[in-house]
Amino acid sequence: MRRLIVGNWKMNGLRGAEKEITRLGELLTPDDRKRADVVVCPPATLLGCLVEEAAAAGIELGGQNCHIRPSGAHTGEVSAEMLADAGAKWCIVGHSERRQDHGERSALVRAKAEAALRAGLTPIICVGEKPEDHEAGRAEAVVGSQIEVAMPNIGISGGRFVTAYEPIWAVGTGVVPRPSHIEAIHARIRKTVGPDTPILYGGSVKGKNAGGILSIPNVDGALIGGASLKAEDFHEIISARW
Ligand code: PGA
Repeated sequence: MRRLIVGNWKMNGLRGAEKEITRLGELLTPDDRKRADVVVCPPATLLGCLVEEAAAAGIELGGQNCHIRPSGAHTGEVSAEMLADAGAKWCIVGHSERRQDHGERSALVRAKAEAALRAGLTPIICVGEKPEDHEAGRAEAVVGSQIEVAMPNIGISGGRFVTAYEPIWAVGTGVVPRPSHIEAIHARIRKTVGPDTPILYGGSVKGKNAGGILSIPNVDGALIGGASLKAEDFHEIISARW
């Protein structure tokens, strides 16, 4: 089955980053393109700069966050409409760094997912347990309630969305959960989101572990931070065998 591979550049990238997109387009083989859809989510400031290169490379773009309203007096914010206008087709919502740094809770994440859908974007809804929840054996319960609350109303624009399971203790740490842990949590998410919603895994995915992770049942793709910044590293993940 086709996988969805999403790069999350986080707060990285200046003008000139076009060359990474162009390089990625050169590296992607016809076989890679058959096996995976590729999305890159740069900082909002770069979306407009990357549109042409992304189209030429056959890669779609996404935002990393959006406001719940289309426009208005919200200094410093970027709306889903603005992301779509700048060339995005996707939008990450509820990333653990937003939950941690900005106190975002699942009810707000749901409002953001619905705002993304109204703007014609596909939301990528992130969920994942804190290290203390993992240690206490509460991961399944925590992630289950996060996704139940954060799921958008299916009536909005067809309601197509993607989920990403990102255990906080695995994000940017080099630590990857045991396959049985990923399998159990993805099965729990599947129970809530149904058979047609892709479930990505994120957290320290690299070229050398991607094939194994993408072979776990109910893992439909990956969300990649650090290893998505350089075209060569990102391509190693996309071309992994699963
Ligand atoms: P990482 O980040 O791949 O650098 O662990 C993943 C993410 O935060 O989306």
